[in-house]
Amino acid sequence: EIGKFADERKVNAYIIGGFVRDLIIGRKNFDVDIVIEGDATVFAKELAKRFGAKVHTYERFKTATVVFKGGKRIDFASARTEVYRAPGALPEVDMAPLKKDLMRRDFTINTLAIKINEKEFGKLIDFFGGLKDIKDKKIRVLHSLSFVEDPTRILRALRFATRYRFELGKHTERLLKIAVQRKLFKTVEGQRIYHELKQIFLEDNPLRVMNKLEKYRIISSLFPSISWDRFKKDLFERIRKVIIWHKLNFPEKETKYHILYFGALFLREPLNRVEKYIKELAVPQKEAELLFQILKNSLPLIKKVRLAGKNSEVYELLQNLPEEFLLFLAALPQDEETRNRVLNYLKSWRFIKPLVNGEDLKSMGLKPGPVFKKILSKLKYAIIDGELPNDREEQLTRAK
Ligand code: ATP
Repeated sequence: EIGKFADERKVNAYIIGGFVRDLIIGRKNFDVDIVIEGDATVFAKELAKRFGAKVHTYERFKTATVVFKGGKRIDFASARTEVYRAPGALPEVDMAPLKKDLMRRDFTINTLAIKINEKEFGKLIDFFGGLKDIKDKKIRVLHSLSFVEDPTRILRALRFATRYRFELGKHTERLLKIAVQRKLFKTVEGQRIYHELKQIFLEDNPLRVMNKLEKYRIISSLFPSISWDRFKKDLFERIRKVIIWHKLNFPEKETKYHILYFGALFLREPLNRVEKYIKELAVPQKEAELLFQILKNSLPLIKKVRLAGKNSEVYELLQNLPEEFLLFLAALPQDEETRNRVLNYLKSWRFIKPLVNGEDLKSMGLKPGPVFKKILSKLKYAIIDGELPNDREEQLTRAK
């Protein structure tokens, strides 16, 4: 449909980048990026009008996002040379605008495009040998200055290499090593480093990426004073398992899983150093607060959980804590029983509600007030401690 629309408007349209890469590799990817050889903002607005969809445009970058009914989003970008052309110039018939756009990308595997205009629908466009590199399982940069131009590509290269189990091309590996040696990360805005680390921590197995970062001495280059030791590697692995468990049991919860890994990376390091790094990385306020909460409180708190007597004491210690904090506690190395306490809280204790409610208390002749809360929470604790069965009659009797 979009291809037809592009035909009507006499512009070329291509699906590009990650979607095409993953289509060929056979990995799910729902992020569709379309490049228009023309002004994508105008195109997207008209398209949205035609389909009754919503559109957000970013004039400065000549990009747009169209959100269709049902929630499907598609991003549109303008092939860049086109953007600066004189108004009224004829559309180009050669490939130049698309090629120039793709030339700015990080790796050959990300430069594939599929034309979606009706006439050549499905035509694969491969200027830089991306298809062969996918077949050869290689990550290659497009030119020798790529890592110098943008050192965050170093992190991206190792993330993709890990995810797809690809190798770095020989030349690319050499360039990467040189870039690390030259400490090029120093030239990058911290915020961009944070973004790429976050992407790494949102992968299925961040530890495997970290092992690659370690191999190329990137961790010490980013965080000179931080030790990357057995304890942290184990913690990464434990976090991975807790996250799998959590996604299975609470798929609908929006959880900032990457914060757990940042917590593991910085745990047991002097707080003033961590503070410095977090500032440099420009970690967003909310996430920084969560991270500090984890770093300052998780170890003391897990000790209290271990020493607590009844289940309800554990409940009191854990209630109202952020999900990420609780998951971090569950991942900390600890004895079976302590871990089960945290998991039981996550799985069941926090959802327990007495079968008696305020109305029942009223009909017992009690006046609504703070005492209600007290009685109900006492009932709740008794249930959590296994002293009171999940039976309304018994709970009513106890309330009396
Ligand atoms: P993912 O599956 O992780 O979302 P993606 O390829 O879609 O992978 P994005 O980070 O969303 O990754 O980037 C979209 C496209 O933009 C990529 O295909 C890549 O070619 C390009 N890109 C992103 N970051 C850079 C960069 N630092 N330098 C050059 N190109 C980049």
